[in-house]
Amino acid sequence: MRVAVFNTKAYDRRFLTAANQAFGHELRFLEPRLDTITAPLASDCEAVCVFVNDTIDAGVLEALAAGGTKLIALRCAGFNNVDLAAADRLGLAVVRVPAYSPHAVAEFTIGLLLAVDRKIPKAWARVRENNFALDGLIGRNLHGRTAGVVGTGKIGALVARALKLGFGCDVLASDIVEDPELVAIGVRYVDRATLLAQAEIVTLHCPLTPETRHLIDAPAIAAARDGLVIVNTSRGALIDTAALIGGLKTRKIGAVALDVYEQEADLFFEDLSSEIVSDDLFQRLLTFPNVLVTGHQAFLTEEALEAIAQTTLASIADAEAGHPLANQVDTRLIAGSR
Ligand code: NAD
Repeated sequence: MRVAVFNTKAYDRRFLTAANQAFGHELRFLEPRLDTITAPLASDCEAVCVFVNDTIDAGVLEALAAGGTKLIALRCAGFNNVDLAAADRLGLAVVRVPAYSPHAVAEFTIGLLLAVDRKIPKAWARVRENNFALDGLIGRNLHGRTAGVVGTGKIGALVARALKLGFGCDVLASDIVEDPELVAIGVRYVDRATLLAQAEIVTLHCPLTPETRHLIDAPAIAAARDGLVIVNTSRGALIDTAALIGGLKTRKIGAVALDVYEQEADLFFEDLSSEIVSDDLFQRLLTFPNVLVTGHQAFLTEEALEAIAQTTLASIADAEAGHPLANQVDTRLIAGSR
């Protein structure tokens, strides 16, 4: 199948090209992000392959459908950036990669938590300057602390296990479905408000839906324990950034580690080191000594990139052959469980 691959980086090309040996699709690698202006670049492609920050709204989908596109292949798990109602109306199938490597994201989450909680980036910056003083680097043990995991699907369950069995945290969880295997190891399901009020550490692993948008907001922060540590490797808009900054300024929040950010589409995945970044909220966030931000890289392991490429190209092959699409997003789930 002819595939327009938008928003490609060198690593996308490398892993997709290697996996494509087994499929023989005609891959058209395009650097621009998909939006209304770039959509015509896919004009004669039956499939379009996109990533987390491409715009796949109704206007873009209409332009793609008019150009002959039949399939939208997301090379990621989340699909909150797709207008599913429009895809349904236009008869476009949407596939994703539901579980390329939950371990990649879960391990990175633990890494971020340890890094921000034990002040590792600050310590490394000091040592590089031959400053071996330890003042200001006091952390906290994870052992015995209460950690709250919001969303215990594939990634959240791994994080909950690591916190419970690996570090000896008291783990609270909130989800719309309980995982009996987590309950069996002593994870306690509570409602979200209880979790946010009792946890000393909160880590977010639920999808972004209208119901979860800004689940960390000013009232949640006000009700939280003093010194709350927040980790978000799921989707940026789970957190109200202005409220987060408010909580950091009052010292209510003890530390924050983010791999995702609400307005990341304007920033992440590009080298902006010579540019003026006009997002004042993001710039303010970077000024806090107890905030650690990475640019949406939790998924970025060799294993995950291989799995993403393999699953995406296999879905495209299934669509070409008219086979059922195992990883199809139900486009009728308009406001449902994204
Ligand atoms: P998953 O579908 O396996 O798990 C999501 C869990 O959230 C499910 O158990 C679901 O029941 C639960 N959930 C749904 N609505 C909820 C709500 N209102 N409150 C609490 N829980 C709710 O997904 P996953 O593979 O574990 O991925 C989790 C999220 O991680 C994805 O949605 C995606 O946004 C994000 N992600 C980020 C990266 C990255 O690189 N940073 C990579 C992959 C995935």
